[in-house]
Amino acid sequence: MRQSVYMEDLDAFSYREAVARKETVVLIPVGSIEQHGPHMPLNVDVLLSRAMAGQVAEELRGLVAAPVVYGYKSQQRSGGGNHLPGTTSLDAATIISIAKTLTLEFARHGARKIAFINGHFENYQFLYEGVDLALRELQLAGIEDMKVVLLSYWDFIDDATIAELYPDGFTGWDLEHGGVLETSLMLHLFPEKVDMAKVVDAPPAVMPNYDVLPVRPELTPESGCLSSAAAATADKGITLLKRARSAMSTALTSEFGLSGR
Ligand code: ZN
Ligand code: MN
Repeated sequence: MRQSVYMEDLDAFSYREAVARKETVVLIPVGSIEQHGPHMPLNVDVLLSRAMAGQVAEELRGLVAAPVVYGYKSQQRSGGGNHLPGTTSLDAATIISIAKTLTLEFARHGARKIAFINGHFENYQFLYEGVDLALRELQLAGIEDMKVVLLSYWDFIDDATIAELYPDGFTGWDLEHGGVLETSLMLHLFPEKVDMAKVVDAPPAVMPNYDVLPVRPELTPESGCLSSAAAATADKGITLLKRARSAMSTALTSEFGLSGR
């Protein structure tokens, strides 16, 4: 039986051995609990970041850490807003602290190659800060060989794929919340969690190029989705997953100097 890439499936002794291997990359999925329209559950960002990390871990023979389930506050211009029902978020200081703590924890276990696989737009800069603080602390402690990569998986979908999958024009990743990307991936990976009959087929949201606090709820479409998922298909999900998996694996192989995979 092939050993699982998911750390929480392993016994402690197999985990200890796997994490301390010099070539092992620990991939940490980071999601959110956030509304994704009437057609998908609240944990889309958790499911997709974890699945993406699992795919890459298979290629790199790495380990997927238990996911960070909650994320930073949903923003109106990229996730519909934190005021919407179900969306349950952490303060920035908490996300920074989680990213720092996990980096230090996996360092303590012996890992020296870590990749945060982000699945929620708003998390990114706070993860960056947490990693930076952890590296500063590790360097002061004399640990100089830790390397961390931070990425959001949709940034590995290239322009050719975008042109192929969005023939009627692409609105940008910020407005893709609950749209074709996430819904297609979910249709491929977790079809039982998607109800296409509930998709609201409306034109993309029109957002100002600035933020307002407190939010003006009327700016977010009733559905909570910022673009329509009507064109989503499982086949598009297969293509998206394949391209992202391969591009992420190439980047991490090169950054971490992994050999012969
Ligand atoms: Zn999402
Ligand atoms: Mn999100």
